[in-house]
Amino acid sequence: MPDDSTWQRFEYVNPEMGVKFHLKFYAPNPSTAERVARVVYNRVEELNAIFSDYSPSSELNHLCAKPPGKPVRVSSDLFKIIQRSQQLARWTDGAFDITAGPSVRLWRQSRKHAEMPAVNLLAIATKRVGFWKIQLNPRKRTVTLLAPNMELDLGGIAKGYAVDEAMRILKQNGIRRAFVAASGDMLTSGPPVSSEGWRVEIRAVDEFGNIYPRTIHLKHQALSTSGDTEQFVEINGRRYSHIIDPRTGIGLTNRIAVTVVAPSSTVADSRATAISVLGVKKGMDYANSKNLQVLILNMSNKKHRLLKSPQWKLW
Ligand code: ADP
Ligand code: MG
Repeated sequence: MPDDSTWQRFEYVNPEMGVKFHLKFYAPNPSTAERVARVVYNRVEELNAIFSDYSPSSELNHLCAKPPGKPVRVSSDLFKIIQRSQQLARWTDGAFDITAGPSVRLWRQSRKHAEMPAVNLLAIATKRVGFWKIQLNPRKRTVTLLAPNMELDLGGIAKGYAVDEAMRILKQNGIRRAFVAASGDMLTSGPPVSSEGWRVEIRAVDEFGNIYPRTIHLKHQALSTSGDTEQFVEINGRRYSHIIDPRTGIGLTNRIAVTVVAPSSTVADSRATAISVLGVKKGMDYANSKNLQVLILNMSNKKHRLLKSPQWKLW
């Protein structure tokens, strides 16, 4: 391990995957930092070209366009992310479900026009959803979509996966003190020189039920927050989130924000989304059963509450 205590700190921010993608790390000199940052962003762009549901030419959309019932061989990135998603779908009884694309798209339109999706369209979309309609063959690395016109959406896990990959590439290039973030999905390796960790602010609740920003320090950990972001639509005084319950097709109205701390960003990102759908009670049960560090900010009542899973160690 080189003595990196004299290395300089570098910071980059690029628009990637529809969000600001931050890199902060220590490198021996500016030219190394530049070179490594470029390799990292190239990898993120490569992943976006595979995972994007916006881009018609993404590998994901190519897969969806194939006739149903036929095994399709996919890249190892696409296979891995679908496999991880399917595992979580099974663990959460479909609270997390990447086949929810039809419902997610309806709500996107709804956000644009600030009106509820039509009831009949919601029903049709919901029927098209179901993680059991995806079959995987790990040996042949193939994906079979069992129903016609399925629309997969990796929005609840892809940023986490990209953040993990970004950190892997930093490590591969000798960078051991780094912070990577794609909006609410962060991952840290070693701490900044002469510091206990990377400074992050998260929303906490004081004794009077008021929200305040609490500073924490992270190292060798991922942290993701989902739910109650700026991404919602308000209709007749009700807020509908961009996270939907795949079983009902309705945008979440439960006004909770879920933070997960985990070793990897893929895990933190996807679990935060899943627990948002599960809600406070089932979400905490799930966290407990999987030994997850989870914080739930409950804003459903006038007096906000902050709930921690027993595994929570940050304070
Ligand atoms: P953010 O994008 O704000 O970080 P999330 O990580 O929670 O938030 O991901 C939300 C995205 O995940 C949605 O925009 C949509 O693409 C997708 N999604 C919504 N509901 C679900 C769900 N129940 N299961 C899996 N993915 C979902
Ligand atoms: Mg997520």
